[in-house]
Amino acid sequence: MLYKKDLIESFPILNRQINGKKLVYFDNAATTLTPVNVTNAIKDFYDYHNANVHRGAHLLSNEATEMYENARKTVAKFINAKTQEIIFTRGTTESINLFAYSIGKSGWLKNKEVLITSIEHHSNFVPWQQLSKTFDFTVKYYNPENGIFNLDEFISNITENTKLISITGMSNVTGQVIPIKEIINYAHEKEILVHVDGAQLVPHFGIDVKDLDVDFLSFSGHKMLGPMGIGVFYGKKKLLKKLPPFHYGGEMINWVSIEQTDFAELPEKFQAGTPNVGGAIGLKAAIDYLNKIGMENIKKHSEILTKYAIEKIKELDFIKLYGLEDRVSIITFNIDSVHPHDVAQVLSDKFGVAVRSGHLCAQPLLKQMGTKSVCRASFYFYNTEEEVDQLIEGLKYIREWFK
Ligand code: PLP
Repeated sequence: MLYKKDLIESFPILNRQINGKKLVYFDNAATTLTPVNVTNAIKDFYDYHNANVHRGAHLLSNEATEMYENARKTVAKFINAKTQEIIFTRGTTESINLFAYSIGKSGWLKNKEVLITSIEHHSNFVPWQQLSKTFDFTVKYYNPENGIFNLDEFISNITENTKLISITGMSNVTGQVIPIKEIINYAHEKEILVHVDGAQLVPHFGIDVKDLDVDFLSFSGHKMLGPMGIGVFYGKKKLLKKLPPFHYGGEMINWVSIEQTDFAELPEKFQAGTPNVGGAIGLKAAIDYLNKIGMENIKKHSEILTKYAIEKIKELDFIKLYGLEDRVSIITFNIDSVHPHDVAQVLSDKFGVAVRSGHLCAQPLLKQMGTKSVCRASFYFYNTEEEVDQLIEGLKYIREWFK
């Protein structure tokens, strides 16, 4: 992996001290750090090439268009898709809203069922719950005991009416990796489409959409070194062609008359208005960085560090761990009779350790786990065992302090 010097050069934020302690950033499941090649790429675009894309004849517009479309090519290659299959969005949440609205409007789901789970992030929960009322479909929820996904139980929820499965590839609460390959194979035998929420999966494992044969995929740039406000919705070309647009306006048309509009081809059909060009360029730089390190190395690092952290935390008898031991990057826990917000605050103020606390945008899952609020430490490739030790030191201190 990277040496300390390379890390500090790439991520100057790691040089920060929080109340005299070296910053330990364990909030990567919310947002990862941004390397300087990403911020430089964005700055270069705004400093030297800033113009609107696609509709200009002048040089800057052409440069901006080329940089923007290059970003799409990089994303397509990263997930092994075609460029027309890459729709830029603001992030996973917008991708899923786009998809739920569009497939709902298409009539594909009318009087049929969408199967989701209670372990989803609200982003893959609320759009289905709400739009089912608008587009007359039913949402069926697989609600696993203790929030631990089981493949056989999940499959037993599929009925003759199931038309679509929308499921996370990796839980943002328990770090459980979901067997999406098996789900997709089974679903396709029954002619059911599958959408994967890849917000947590893609940053740690990468993805090959062809090999997986996934029909639709959503993920966010800011959880994989990119800037905020840029994300991706992928769909198989033949399926995207059948879906209606989500937003209407400029960019997404072929021609417009008073009477009617002819929509543009893919991917523009789904990209109304001026896009986040700087964000796409930043995402490209992020993917370049990930490729340089190698997704296989990133995955291995996450697995080893998570195992180390689990072993250390298990030694603390006052910690309640949620989920299975077999997980990647995400460790969710509570300390007996100490509120998670207090834990997070003391960890930050006294130990410089940034963790997340609260419901983690997964209230149905937390209910299944028997709690309303938790602490979450989540890792990425720049985190180290020494940093985990700093967390453990903090947890022991908190235990004594609140006794
Ligand atoms: N899905 C999962 C599994 C997530 O972890 C998150 C964010 O934490 C989201 C969706 C939403 O991502 P965004 O806020 O980037 O739209």
